[in-house]
Amino acid sequence: MSETAVARARAEIDLAALRANVRTLRAHAPAAALMAVVKSDAYGHGAVPCARAALAAGATWLGTATPEEALALRAAGLPGRIMCWLWAPGGPWREAVEADLDLGVSGLWALREVARAARTAGRAARIQLKADTGLGRGGCQPGDWEELVGEALRAEAEGLVRVTGLWSHFACADEPGHPSIDAQLARFREMVGYAEERGVRPEVRHIANSPATLTLPEAHFDLVRTGIATYGISPGPELGTAADLGLRPVMTLWASLALVKRVPAGHGVSYGHQYVTSGDTTLGLVPVGYADGIPRHASGTGPVLVGGKWRTVAGRVAMDQFAVDLGGDTPPVGERAVLFGPGDGGEPTAEDWAQAAGTIAYEIVTRIGTRVPRVYVNEEQDGYALSGGGPRTSGTGQREPAAPDDTAVKRSGT
Ligand SMILES: *Cc1c(COP(=O)(O)O)cnc(C)c1O
Repeated sequence: MSETAVARARAEIDLAALRANVRTLRAHAPAAALMAVVKSDAYGHGAVPCARAALAAGATWLGTATPEEALALRAAGLPGRIMCWLWAPGGPWREAVEADLDLGVSGLWALREVARAARTAGRAARIQLKADTGLGRGGCQPGDWEELVGEALRAEAEGLVRVTGLWSHFACADEPGHPSIDAQLARFREMVGYAEERGVRPEVRHIANSPATLTLPEAHFDLVRTGIATYGISPGPELGTAADLGLRPVMTLWASLALVKRVPAGHGVSYGHQYVTSGDTTLGLVPVGYADGIPRHASGTGPVLVGGKWRTVAGRVAMDQFAVDLGGDTPPVGERAVLFGPGDGGEPTAEDWAQAAGTIAYEIVTRIGTRVPRVYVNEEQDGYALSGGGPRTSGTGQREPAAPDDTAVKRSGT
């Protein structure tokens, strides 16, 4: 099937923007390596193409939550270090050891399962001990650290594991100045110091997520783990917009108007009639709904660019579609309704949708469902040099010149 101008809906993924974001983030943490966090299908952007683009721009690690996600990257041929951290008992430890993944270990049960798998596999597992420095989620409590470190060292002495990393995760890095940040850093230094005194020789120590990478150099250590900023989205309103941070949103979500029609005053719109037209007007039907990840909480509030103007979701978002009040305008059927994108074409951003739906932009992009095909643009780095784009910048955070529209468009494999 060829890519046509009119389609129900598409999520365009600009890989040049992703590469530029990786370079910008590396410039923020020049002494540290960068792990591109591509969990949850790269926050909805597509794990394999995003992982490849991140490595091309200088990331040297990939990170996922589940081992299945990490194994899928390895199976797709992605080289280098891949770490996963969200394990449950009975997980695919042996496959992970054989795939040379780095495995987050938060407790004794996990250490015992991984050691058993390593014995069966006949090779040492690369494990990274996770400290709970205050997040209160994954990680080993300070009071249990001595026991975990001790048992890991014994397993290392037996050749069953190699402790490659010591790491932790922040609770409030998106709120600069929050007192928990310094407390977590101090606790992290203590727990790392203790493990090293006992004889752990980690390749990497790491605690920084996107907000800490952007705002907290003392938290960079050997490696930073950036998720949301890789996709060009601000980690939170307190840090400013993506543009303030020199980041470029990677995903543009659009749908084609499926119907444009005149309706009289007093006409109810969508389930429950929570919107009623106040005068004669026109309605546009946007053929995406909550099954596609459009939040139902954005009923009556979500912004959409149609025909050069911001419109608002009229009434409820349904499973497959919603309406906008076009205020008498009559754009043609098939006209693009842009839900969000970088914002410089006048369209709303994922951050605007987060505000409209009472959530965070992470959730907006991650929820976009599999029914929306991902289309990758600017996939090839070399296209720029060939088309006279000049030398690419490195580490300065400047953007590559935009390729002409649709030159590098490819359908995703979905
Ligand atoms: C998701 C995740 C990250 C990335 O967080 P961002 O705020 O998206 O940068 C880093 N580390 C861990 C452990 C995570 O789960």
